[in-house]
Amino acid sequence: MSAVRIQLFILLLSALAILGCSANSANIYPLPKAYLHHDQLHSRLQEISQKAPALAQLHLLGFSATEELPIYALQIGKAQAQRKILIIGQHHGDEVLGVELSVALAEELMQKHESDRQWMQIMDEFRFFIVPTINPEGWKRVCDGEYQFKRKNNRDTNNNGRLDIRSDGVDLNRNYPVFWADQVPVPTTHANYKGERPASETEVQAIMELAEKHSFELAIFYHSSSTGLFSEKIFLPNRIQGDEEQKRRLDDLRDFANDYASRVKKDYQKGYYQVGEGNSSRVGNARNFFFHTYQTDAFLVELGGINSAGISVVHPNAKMKDKIVSKNLAALKQVLAQRAKGK
Ligand SMILES: [Zn+2]
Repeated sequence: MSAVRIQLFILLLSALAILGCSANSANIYPLPKAYLHHDQLHSRLQEISQKAPALAQLHLLGFSATEELPIYALQIGKAQAQRKILIIGQHHGDEVLGVELSVALAEELMQKHESDRQWMQIMDEFRFFIVPTINPEGWKRVCDGEYQFKRKNNRDTNNNGRLDIRSDGVDLNRNYPVFWADQVPVPTTHANYKGERPASETEVQAIMELAEKHSFELAIFYHSSSTGLFSEKIFLPNRIQGDEEQKRRLDDLRDFANDYASRVKKDYQKGYYQVGEGNSSRVGNARNFFFHTYQTDAFLVELGGINSAGISVVHPNAKMKDKIVSKNLAALKQVLAQRAKGK
């Protein structure tokens, strides 16, 4: 080959390599088979709970607002474990990584409660309530390949008698009765439409009932940032200025969240997860509801990183999905083992 041809050949090879890399780190939709599908959730949770019925109970918390789809919680804990932790894997239908993580957590607890020293310590103290999704309507449409970024539930918010999949629905993480008056009204088509009134959605009511029944010490809500604006960050509740007791609680919570964040490497970039600084949204948020109503240590974790092309990958391939789940579970285990020793 001539020198020019060799150069062209090398150029072609490197172009292929770059294409290959970005294909490996791109969003994949419809979702790969390795992702849990909505019609598998109930049997998977049943299977998990039946491994040790004395340790795990599957609960039906309620039904979704429009299609009356069931919302499940798996309670896992020893009789003596009195401190309670809530894990919610999904509020937004397209944010599927948290569903994967929460089901994997349930599996890990069941598998390792007698064999792993740290999980044993954790489970001597803590009882887990794991809710893989509170948005079965949105998740179903995403799983079925209908719309990749179906965020809200399926409420017919423009009242035209049918589902407009791209615009209908209430943002379930804006519907909790907290800081409700803060938001300037947005159209019902908006991604963050908070609903007609506080807790108008049965999905949110189901979680409120759970919160009322159990005094949760800690609640973690998993999300994914499809815009990439919040990727790989942890968000704390808002603080009411001048409330010193709240400031102290938040300082402690920030330390705990920092510990978690500093243990999770970013998916594609250098560095680790971080705790978000400054103001984040607070209207109707789960973390604010739990923190301000029940004094629960509550925060939100955004799963899914930014690839080398600057794209937020919230539907990664199976291999990256598993990596994200396992590194977050490892971090969770470490911080909970620490926490189990305290208080
Ligand atoms: Zn979200």
